[in-house]
Amino acid sequence: MSELYQHRARKRFGQNFLHDAGVIHRILRAIHARPGEHLLEIGPGQGALTEGLLGSGARLDVIELDQDLVPLLKMRFGLDPNFNLHQGDALKFDFSSLAGGEDKLRVVGNLPYNISTPLIFHLLEHAGVIADMHFMLQKEVVERLAAEPGGGDWGRLSIMVQYHCRVEHLFNVGPGAFNPPPKVDSAIVRLVPHAVLPHPAKDHRLLERVVREAFNQRRKTLRNTLKQLLPAAAIEAAGVDGGLRPEQLDLAAFVRLADQLALQTSPE
Ligand code: SAM
Repeated sequence: MSELYQHRARKRFGQNFLHDAGVIHRILRAIHARPGEHLLEIGPGQGALTEGLLGSGARLDVIELDQDLVPLLKMRFGLDPNFNLHQGDALKFDFSSLAGGEDKLRVVGNLPYNISTPLIFHLLEHAGVIADMHFMLQKEVVERLAAEPGGGDWGRLSIMVQYHCRVEHLFNVGPGAFNPPPKVDSAIVRLVPHAVLPHPAKDHRLLERVVREAFNQRRKTLRNTLKQLLPAAAIEAAGVDGGLRPEQLDLAAFVRLADQLALQTSPE
């Protein structure tokens, strides 16, 4: 880090800068960027990951919300022809505008934890232009992303992300790797959008609706929580036992429920 420039980490931007060289190296190895690829880094901060990503020879777009970091990023990387900086909010960014045709994006970021869930949902809307994603997140969020049916971590986030992506919990990172250290443990996750959806729903918005409704009261039975959406007979027609609780259902069963809802709203 240049001594000419001192940046004070801002809590409202979720700034916890990585400083552990071993952890940075391990993340870069997991991403394994290559020349000719097109990467997008969300929240480059002071450039902890940016330097290694650019060093790979890949093309790199970065989106940073904090204007005060722009001069530093330009100073460090502005001369590299592969570097392209966007100052703005990743939650509002049109990711599809960067990719075209065969040019799929590899998205990476040590994400601001306060916006990580909405940001992942926003990225899923652009899953078709994304080759893969590597994120540092709160460990608890990674456990929910990678969860399997039957446990307390299985919920809306697991189901909607696994609908679109294969999820791999790669490794955990302790608070000491950051400056300032966050109060929670972190983890690196890899999300790879499915080339072909394993359980396609007739309408994925109905899947979202069923899942949200079911997990609103996760201790209740599906017969109870879904009664505004689906009569008991429709739950049965989906091959689902209405006496189960939502965390006992896998993705395929939720898709069958959503497809029953599609039948109710627009009978064939
Ligand atoms: N990548 C750097 C590192 O690993 O040291 C910084 C990581 S820090 C946890 C998160 C970064 O995301 C900060 O630089 C912060 O300013 C930026 N950020 C926060 N909210 C953002 C948003 N909505 N869009 C883009 N960047 C954002």
